[in-house]
Amino acid sequence: MPLYSFSCNNCGQEVDLFLSLGELNRGVAQCPYCQSRDLKGPGQDQMAAAGASPSPAGSRPSCVIGQK
Ligand SMILES: [Zn+2]
Repeated sequence: MPLYSFSCNNCGQEVDLFLSLGELNRGVAQCPYCQSRDLKGPGQDQMAAAGASPSPAGSRPSCVIGQK
């Protein structure tokens, strides 16, 4: 299963979870710290970074946001 990075909107922790695509789509991802399901998932920034076409000249990709 792929590893997805989330950030928790409830407690602010960054969490990495192994989820199948079906689980991801069902929204079963849950914060291991506070058990909240209010997670900001990979659909917001990571998929944009991974799936976006090459940036037009002049805009610099910011693909390292959130990485440590
Ligand atoms: Zn949390």
